[in-house]
Amino acid sequence: MAETLLNITALSKSFDTAKGRVEALHKVDLNIREGEFITVIGPSGCGKSTLLRIIAGLDGQYSGTITLAGQNITGPGIDKGFIFQEHRLFPWLTVEKNIAADLSLRNPEVRRKVDELIELVKLGGFEKAYPKELSGGMAQRVAIARALLRNPRVLLLDEPFGALDAFTRAHMQDVLLDIWRRNQTTMIFVTHDIDEAVFLANRVVILKPRPGQIKSIVPIDLPYPRKKTTSSFQELRLRVLKLLDSLDELELTDGAGI
Ligand code: ADP
Ligand code: MG
Repeated sequence: MAETLLNITALSKSFDTAKGRVEALHKVDLNIREGEFITVIGPSGCGKSTLLRIIAGLDGQYSGTITLAGQNITGPGIDKGFIFQEHRLFPWLTVEKNIAADLSLRNPEVRRKVDELIELVKLGGFEKAYPKELSGGMAQRVAIARALLRNPRVLLLDEPFGALDAFTRAHMQDVLLDIWRRNQTTMIFVTHDIDEAVFLANRVVILKPRPGQIKSIVPIDLPYPRKKTTSSFQELRLRVLKLLDSLDELELTDGAGI
């Protein structure tokens, strides 16, 4: 069994807002192994993005401990790649220059790495294209390549396929699994989509809101490549769905003022 890469212990996070204090995360404990694919699912506002931002080092105001490869996370860095729902590419740069970002393509090592990534995300022939010439799925593949340029220890993906149509989305799931198989980068992937969560992950982490807490962790012991139509897939999907459904009941009880 691979070693722990990310250790999260008693992680709590509050925001002070005009309406008072919001506890976005409450005592979250999670261990993620090197090379593992984790998906995080839960209703809107349950703290998914907050959790990813803290792991990314984008928000240092929290209590509890969180370590990456045994080191405290002190800020953003090349060891953590981040992918947002929107691709956030520079419109004035070509695909290859977007991937190279602040590094020069005249450097042979950078050139080699960028070519390798273009091949990995299957964008051969589009090196000189601009973002406006790409489909949504292609642009998101450029964003993934850019995030992988410096070989991060972990890739953090915040609903990266949320804006794509269902067919493109399914294709992107296959592309991402292929990247994961070949690169073995640890993935933490936030989604609203139950099929997506079960299709991708070694373990699905289900969060519940107010305060954001882990409700349950469901291991997905299905071999890859997976098929969404098999009965074993559907059984696991139903298990996750039921756990999420029981959150609705919690909310109804809350709403009734009990
Ligand atoms: P999710 O990504 O699961 O939809 P978030 O992590 O964005 O949820 O938010 C969790 C909770 O924290 C929500 O109640 C949200 O309103 C609150 N929150 C998130 N970011 C901020 C912020 N910068 N200021 C105040 N409240 C915030
Ligand atoms: Mg979010």
